[in-house]
Amino acid sequence: MSDTASDEPPDEEESHDDSFTYNGGRVAPGESANIRYGISETYLGDPVRIPVTVINGEHPGPTVFLSAAAHGDELNGIEVVREVAHDWDHSILHGTLVCLPVLNVPGFLAQQRYLPIYDRDLNRSFPGREGSTSANRMAHRIFTNFIEPCDLGIDFHTSTRGRTNMLHVRANMDRPQVSRLANAFSSNVIIAGEGPDGTLRREATEAGVPAITVEMGEAHRFQRNLINRALTGVASVLAEFGLHRESSVYWPGWRTVIDGTDEKTWLRADAGGIVDMKSGRGDLVHEGEVICTITNPFKEKDDIVTVEAPFTGLIVGVLENPVVYPGNPLCHLVRLSEDTLTALERERGDGDGEGYITDVE
Ligand SMILES: [Zn+2]
Repeated sequence: MSDTASDEPPDEEESHDDSFTYNGGRVAPGESANIRYGISETYLGDPVRIPVTVINGEHPGPTVFLSAAAHGDELNGIEVVREVAHDWDHSILHGTLVCLPVLNVPGFLAQQRYLPIYDRDLNRSFPGREGSTSANRMAHRIFTNFIEPCDLGIDFHTSTRGRTNMLHVRANMDRPQVSRLANAFSSNVIIAGEGPDGTLRREATEAGVPAITVEMGEAHRFQRNLINRALTGVASVLAEFGLHRESSVYWPGWRTVIDGTDEKTWLRADAGGIVDMKSGRGDLVHEGEVICTITNPFKEKDDIVTVEAPFTGLIVGVLENPVVYPGNPLCHLVRLSEDTLTALERERGDGDGEGYITDVE
């Protein structure tokens, strides 16, 4: 800090300025900017730049980040963020949107989850640090310029390659503002927890920027149904926090918050082989129901392994690539309360094709 800084009165214009500022730039109210922001350099010395769109509404309000592809092959969120940034009407916006469609540019170019070369996980590197590893430096540039200035944020992911999952929110529900954000996103399923060290949503939350993760579908795909539902979630969040004042918060019909280890389980294969999955993402399975069978290449009857649901629940995540070693995950099953079960079965009984649970593409 300089000697004089504390003695000077705050600059009047500065303290009332609703511009969004980052290192090297400023976006004034009523303006938007497409920015390519350097966060690293390649072997050739060329800049590694992330695309950023900042939309500063004409009216004051909160600043919200929307980010995707921290894992470079998780594409659904990219389209969510791009549509919000470039297809929505922002004349009604109270506040600022910071849209970060591709955080992990090297991973995106290689179409892989991790940062190439050392296989570092950008989503375990936040808040990052100058003078540290390449991943930490990239994370630091992103975090200080585009995450810390925000009031809240949503980070979009998909399941890991070879698996798929229902659209659901992951959030630290012990924090009131995070819980408010998670509920506003209007997903059927919220998995509670603070998240691993170094994840964007956990570190942003720790830094005073309440944040959630949205998981949706599989890697390497644009899945339109899921993208549309995520867009509904974003609109609902913008309504809840006053950025879209004419809109209202969406209620998805039923919701379950999964907390504690007894209510959810990854069913794992006890045999290696080829999997015939009987249930899909978002399916309700009853206790004792066959979820899948595992067979060898000869389909020998004596060697067929049958996997049954240990309890009645919802399949939140499921294997897509139908091959397993013993110990590999088959599906992510969560138990539902009686009330939730009733609401879900009622929804299904209605045969609503737009239902939030029948998300088969
Ligand atoms: Zn991810």
